[in-house]
This record gives sequence, structure tokens and C-alpha cells, in this order.
Amino acid sequence: MRTDMLIDGEWTTGSGTTFPTLNPATGEVIAEVPEATETDVDTAVRAAAAAFTSPAWGGLLPAARARLLLRVADLLEEHADEMARLETLDQGQPLQVSAGFSVPNAVEHFRYYAGWVTKITGVTAPLSIPDVDYRSVREPLGVCGLITPWNFPLMILVWKLAPALATGNTVVIKPAEQTPLSALRLAELIEEAGVPAGVVNVVTGGPETGRALVRHPLVKKISFTGSTGTGREIGAECGRTLKKVSLELGGKAPSVIAADADIDAAVQGNLLGGLLNSGQVCAAYTRFYVDAGRHDEFAEKLAGAAGSLRLGDGLHPETHLGPLVSAEQVAQTTRYVGLGRREGAELLTGGNRPDGELASGFFFEPTVFAGVRQDMRIAREEIFGPVLAVLPYEDPEELAGLANDSAYGLAAAIWSRDIGTANRLAREIKAGTVWINMMQGLDAAAAWGGMKSSGLGREMGWAAIEAYTEIKSIWTSHN
Ligand code: NAD
Repeated sequence: MRTDMLIDGEWTTGSGTTFPTLNPATGEVIAEVPEATETDVDTAVRAAAAAFTSPAWGGLLPAARARLLLRVADLLEEHADEMARLETLDQGQPLQVSAGFSVPNAVEHFRYYAGWVTKITGVTAPLSIPDVDYRSVREPLGVCGLITPWNFPLMILVWKLAPALATGNTVVIKPAEQTPLSALRLAELIEEAGVPAGVVNVVTGGPETGRALVRHPLVKKISFTGSTGTGREIGAECGRTLKKVSLELGGKAPSVIAADADIDAAVQGNLLGGLLNSGQVCAAYTRFYVDAGRHDEFAEKLAGAAGSLRLGDGLHPETHLGPLVSAEQVAQTTRYVGLGRREGAELLTGGNRPDGELASGFFFEPTVFAGVRQDMRIAREEIFGPVLAVLPYEDPEELAGLANDSAYGLAAAIWSRDIGTANRLAREIKAGTVWINMMQGLDAAAAWGGMKSSGLGREMGWAAIEAYTEIKSIWTSHN
């Protein structure tokens, strides 16, 4: 595959230096990719601006645009195995996750938004003014900057890219510096599908490359997924230059296990819900509120199940948990485990880096703390690693307060056989998504995004069509 950047239909090394991307299972360098400079970003944005109004893209009829998206979906599906292996190699997620979830989800997103292309309608409205007709239309925004994180590089990119293209925009993509490869390979497939030059551009690099994109005056919208701190900075810059902005940020999802819950089902769902992709999931279940009478049973079963998971190279088909993405994530996880110990939580399993043949990769054992208190940092801060905190609660009436006692509001889970209570609690919890008696589900048709410090705006469903268009009102006089 190509490891240079795609700008205006040309593969280029850009005008700067390069940086390495690593295989997190071994710590070895897989490839060197270009570090895009401000000049490279400017070239990419200008190419996207020109493509936006070009007959080849701007002049395409909706049905033709839909066919292009379907062709991209088909190509991605044809290359699904290769793409899954690439994602695993660069990001670390087990093949079960990349092949079973990330790549199929990306394919479905392209198909779902291909379906919308021919159905993006405005309204007519009965104005209280004589002799005029009124209609509204939805128009694309122009050049959109798509900035993505490293935890699900391909899938999260496609959550942005599919609706951005479906609505007729052009894009400059800035993938995370830890995991640029699947975005570059996708760009090759998009070229092969016949998407015109300049419509999709990719600039690789770190925060400086991202900043140049956010600052650029020709960029009309930034869609960002990443940490809350970076989101605040991007939101402020977009405010200054009056760009539209969507922010999908961090989380600290609570999972409530009521006294009447099926504990074994809850253990299974929470094990996966907490440890999928080694806990590097913005919606990972990480603080478990368990009825005090069942706390020990739940915590012990969860720790037993977590301790039995097989850690290994994601490319090995029997691996349950792959490495973390980088040495920085290992250091962050190690720091939080130390904090949990010092704050007096009871470590039931894990807590260390494995030795032996996994020592050279960025691995960390699945870790469960019991007897955690609400004020401990492991219960309050996003760790983004395989660390689960079990907290006992005494009174069901305090559950909504405990769940909401967080800066974040991305997602939550509730486990109870009493569906009335579960639904009441679902309404009381401040989170963009609540799952009842299930691990996390994601579907292109279900709106996704966070409340509070977890973000601004929604992706997926019709919400993403709105996020990549603006309304124009057209009035016509009868006279
Ligand atoms: P990050 O904020 O460090 O980086 C994300 C992206 O932004 C990268 O491409 C990075 O190069 C770029 N970037 C960094 N600083 C920038 C700046 N000042 N201007 C422009 N671009 C900049 O986040 P991360 O560590 O890669 O990702 C982990 C975070 O992402 C976690 O907090 C996680 O919860 C969050 N996340 C949220 C969702 C969601 O849907 N809400 C999904 C996945 C991850």
C-alpha cells in the first residue's frame, strides 16, 4: 500500500519530514509517513475547495453520488480481510474486533449514507404572507476537516466521511499520528472507486497538522473525535473563525447493576463492555455501580472472567485482548493503577504489564478494582485502558445522582430485570446513549454523541445529514 499522502489526486511525500508508525504488539516500526506541513495542509484545503464547485463533483446528480458511495462500500468489503489486518497491525485491536466490528461497521456506514443521498429534502411552509411560495433546501457546507483518534481509526473516520460525502462536501482528513495507515488505504480505494481528484484528501501528521487544518480560512467545518482537552481547543478556534464544529470527546460511562440483575449476564456484558479494544473505547463501561448486597459476587466474577482473557498479538486469531496503542497509553494506565492502589481500592486482578514474550509490546493486564469510592480518581477520570472499577451502592434512589456525578455524559448502561425502573433511570441519566441489559451497540441509524464534556453535536442517522448541511430558505413571489 501507499504510505505517502493523497492531495488533489496525487500521492505525495509533502514538504516536510516523516514520522514512524509502530506495531503496538511488538513496538517495531511498520512504516514512515509524511508529517504534513502548513503548506501541505493549505494545498489540500485549496484542492478540496476547487473540487467542491467542480462539475465532476459539485455537478454530480444525487443518484450518481450515491453510486460512488456504494462502489466505495463494495471495494471496502472486497478488501475487508486486508483492511482488518492492517488495522490490527497499526492499532493493535484483535482481528475479532477489526474483522468482526470495525471494518463491517465502516462498510455499512457507506451503504447507509448512500441510501440518504437521494432523500435529503427540505420543506415547504405555509407563510402568513400573501402571494409567496416558500421552500427550504439543504446545501453542503464546502470543505470539511475530519480529525480522528487512534482507537478505531477506520470506523470513526467513516462515521464522518460517509455523511460528509453523501451531502456533497469535500474533505481533508487528518488521521491520528499513531494510526494513519487505514485512512491512507481507504483513500486508495476511494480513488479506485472513481471519486474525483481533490474530493478526498489525506494529510498525515500530529497536532500541528491538525491545528493548521482547524485554522484554515477555507475550511467550513471541523468534525473532531478525540480527547476533551483537544476538543475544547478546537471548539475555541472554530468559535473565533466561525466554523461549524462537531466534537465527539471523552467519556467515563457508568454501568448500573441493580439488585435484581442477572449477575452472570451482567458480568459477561460488562466484561466485553469494559475491555473491548483493551478499554480504549470512549463509551467503555468503566465504573460499575453494584447493589451493596451483590457487590462482592459481581466483582469476584468480573475479576475471574477478566483474569482468564488471553492477551496477545491481535493478529493471532485466539487473542481476546491486544496491546494498548502506545507506550504513552501503557504509562497512563500504570499511573492510574498506582493511584487506585494508593487511594485504597482493592485490586482483585491484573495491575501489571505482562512479561515474557509480550514484554516488548504495549500490553497491560486486564485489571479490576473492587470497593471503589466515588471520590477516587479511578472512578472519575478517563483512563482509556483495561481498568475496571466496581463501586457498591446502598440506595437505588441515589443511582442517578452517582451516575451523573461526572464531567462526562457520553454513554451509560443499566442492568435490571425491572424494565420500568431501568427506563426511568435511563431518562434520568445525562448521557447521549443509554443501553439497557446489553453491551454497547452501534448502528449507522442510531444517533451518536455526548452530553456535557463529552461533546457537541451528533453523528450517525439523520443527525449527521444535518451536521454536514445548512438550510437555505427560498421565497418566490407569485407576482
Ligand atoms: P487526541 O485529542 O490527543 O487526538 C485526536 C486527534 O486530534 C489526533 O488526530 C491528533 O493528532 C489531533 N490533535 C491533537 N491536538 C490537536 C489540536 N490542537 N488541533 C487539531 N488537532 C489536534 O485524542 P486521542 O488520544 O487520539 O484519542 C483518545 C480520546 O478520544 C479519548 O478521550 C476518547 O474518549 C476520545 N474518543 C471519543 C469518541 C467519541 O465518539 N466520543 C470516540 C473515540 C475516542
